[in-house]
Parts: sequence; C-alpha cells; structure tokens
Amino acid sequence: MSVAFNALQMAEQQIADLDTQLLRRKLRATASPCDTTMSVNNRELKAFCSNDYLGLANHPDLIEALAQGATQFGVGSGASHLISGHNIVHDSLEQKLAAFQISHIPQARSLFFSTGYLANINAITGLVRLAGHGEASIYSAALNHASLIDGVRLASAQMKATVTLFNHRDLSSLTGSLAQDARPLKLIVLDGVFSMDGDIAPLPALLAIAEQYDALLLVDDAHGFGVLGKQGHGILEQFKIHSERIIYIGTLGKAAGVSGAFICATAPFIEWFIQKGRPYIYSTATPPAIAHTVLKSLELIEGDEGIRRREHLHHLIEIWRNEMSFTQWQKESSYTPIQPIILGSNANALAAAKLLDEAGYWIPAIRPPTVPVGSARLRITLSANHSVDDLRALITTLQMIEQKVTQGVPA
Ligand SMILES: *Cc1c(COP(=O)(O)O)cnc(C)c1O
Repeated sequence: MSVAFNALQMAEQQIADLDTQLLRRKLRATASPCDTTMSVNNRELKAFCSNDYLGLANHPDLIEALAQGATQFGVGSGASHLISGHNIVHDSLEQKLAAFQISHIPQARSLFFSTGYLANINAITGLVRLAGHGEASIYSAALNHASLIDGVRLASAQMKATVTLFNHRDLSSLTGSLAQDARPLKLIVLDGVFSMDGDIAPLPALLAIAEQYDALLLVDDAHGFGVLGKQGHGILEQFKIHSERIIYIGTLGKAAGVSGAFICATAPFIEWFIQKGRPYIYSTATPPAIAHTVLKSLELIEGDEGIRRREHLHHLIEIWRNEMSFTQWQKESSYTPIQPIILGSNANALAAAKLLDEAGYWIPAIRPPTVPVGSARLRITLSANHSVDDLRALITTLQMIEQKVTQGVPA
C-alpha cells in the first residue's frame, strides 16, 4: 500500500471526525463586493460578519485609486522588497503609517507587509532573534489571534524562547512571572482589541508593567486601527500612549478596507526587521497599486469622512449596548464593532446561524479552535455602512431566534 494512499485515508477520516464534532467549516463564495448586503448562492443577505468596520472595502474613491494605481505602477511588484520590488509608493505609505503613530512611538518608522499574519510572525520571531538562543521570554495573552500564537510558537521552536500565557483581564499572573524573569529580552504580546470578544486590552496598565520589568509590548491592533481614536489612528491614540517599548501592528484589510499590514516601532527595530526578518525578506512585495490604494484609504480614515464614519459606527455600538438583550443567551457588549453572543455548544451556535440565514442574515457560527471549547458563538460585527434601521431589524430578529433556539424548535 502506497504512502500517499494512507495519507488520503487519513485526510478522509480527519474530515469525517470534524463533521461528527460539528467542527467542519464551509466555504461560501460571494458574487458581490464586501458590503452590508451581499449576494450568496443567488440570495441577497444582510451581512453582519465582515471586518470592514468603516465600510470602505467598496468605496468609490478606493476603487478609483486602485485602477489609477494599476495604470501608474502596473500589476505585480515582481520581486521582494530588497531585490527590486520596493516602489516609491511603498515608501510613501510607510512614511504615512509612521506619521499616524509618531506622537505615540518616538522615532516611529514602519514596514509594510502583505498580510497581518506575516507581520506578526516577522515581528515576534525578529524581536526574539535580537537576544539569541534561549535568551528571550514571551508573555502571550491566552486569547490571542492565531497569527500571534503561530509567531510565538515559531520563536519558541527556532530560538528556544520560553513562553508564558497570561489572562489579559487579570494581569497579576503576568506581573508575578515577570518579577522572576532574568532573561535579557522580555516580550509581552497581545491583541489590542480581542478579535472574538471585542474587548479592548488594558494598555496603560500593560505599559506600566512593561516599564517596571523592562519588557517590550507588542500590540496587534488589527481591529482597532481605523476604529479607535478620534483620527482613527488606533489604540495608541485612544489611550494617548507614548513609549518606545511599543511594537505596533496594524492591518489594512479590515477597517482600512484594502489589504496588507504594517509594523510600526522605533527606527532601530524596523531596521533590524529589514536586515533579518525572514517573512519580510523572502516574500514578494505587495503590488504597489495596493499601497497606492491604502494611502487613499488613510486619507479617508483621518479626514472628515473617516470622522463621520466613526461617529456613526460608535452610535450603532451604543444602540447595540442599550437595546440588545436576551433572556438566556449571554451577550458580552463591547465598546468596539465586535459584539459576541456566546451560545456554548457548537450545535446551538450552528442552529442560531442557520435560523439567521433563513431570516436573510449572514452571521456565521464561530467554533473552536477559533474560540475556546464550550464558547461557540455568533460574532456580530457592525459597519459604518449599516443604518440604524438595519441594526434595529437585526436586534428584533436575534431576539426571536433566541426564543426558537432555547425552546428547542428543530433548526
Ligand atoms: C485578521 C487578524 C490578523 C491577520 O491579518 P491579515 O492581514 O488578515 O493576515 C492578525 N491579528 C488579528 C488580531 C486579526 O484579527
């Protein structure tokens, strides 16, 4: 029997197991741009599930910028940044992204990546490599995004960094472990806005701890960039943070509506990443037309339109906080566009998502390993393109569905 044949059987068995545990995920292809109404399987669904928080993914100015960028710069970059793929528009974008954080990070410089996943892997492994084998400790929040977790695992495997998990809602264990840590490089890593719960990390307290124990603080602001702060600069603006210990990660495919990500930090860290960051060095540069489009998006984010969009978004969040209530389901209202409803079992979450689909809504069930076992949920996300009426209609539908699911009507 050939090896390949065994592997095939294993794949079939593994997938069958996922089916049994109600953990199999299904792809759905949309036939429309990302927006608050989307076309799926010839049906129009009201979408409350994307991360397009400002409603920019289908914005006419950005569509035009992409077309114009392609005309000016072509389609592909053709090589990695250090070979010949680095365009002047990448440079302009990096300068603008650094300007967004300059009042929060002294000597801020930034580095653009094709995805947040890569930026996180690069930042974590790169920082740990500063110290050498066995010389770094990483403190990682238990509910961190998978890309941070993978960065931490890679740093641990490659550089023998020790890894300690902590609870971002109770920092006592973090302080306790740091107090006994004599390694030369200590790195605290966490989401700025937790992606499946929507709560905001207690950054001022974390920074105080980082200063006390001489640690770096890496904040992945994938869900705060564009959303938090008056100008949309993100979590550092929101908390008026100022420190050269901050390694800031922002992503550009969520509120910015386009694609890509960046690391922003004090200049010597960025120079080190250019020299030694393997994901940066060994990956083809993002098409310059994308960088050109992101530049336009940053203009919208900082400008009057961005301010208006954030005001409307925060108004929707207030309505959700005030008007949404359940009798049995657990609502954990946040101050961000991410609003989870924790349903517990995978079966409950799938049943609720199916009833929502029948009512014309697209809100998928989020299950392990994306969230801890027993905390399957609906993850509702709000966008500046939703109207107040859209939101009120959703609230009414969710309350009806709760009654159906908790009364055990077959889904
Ligand atoms: C989406 C996300 C990422 C990954 O960013 P991409 O640009 O989509 O690869 C990283 N961190 C967090 C917290 C995210 O939610």
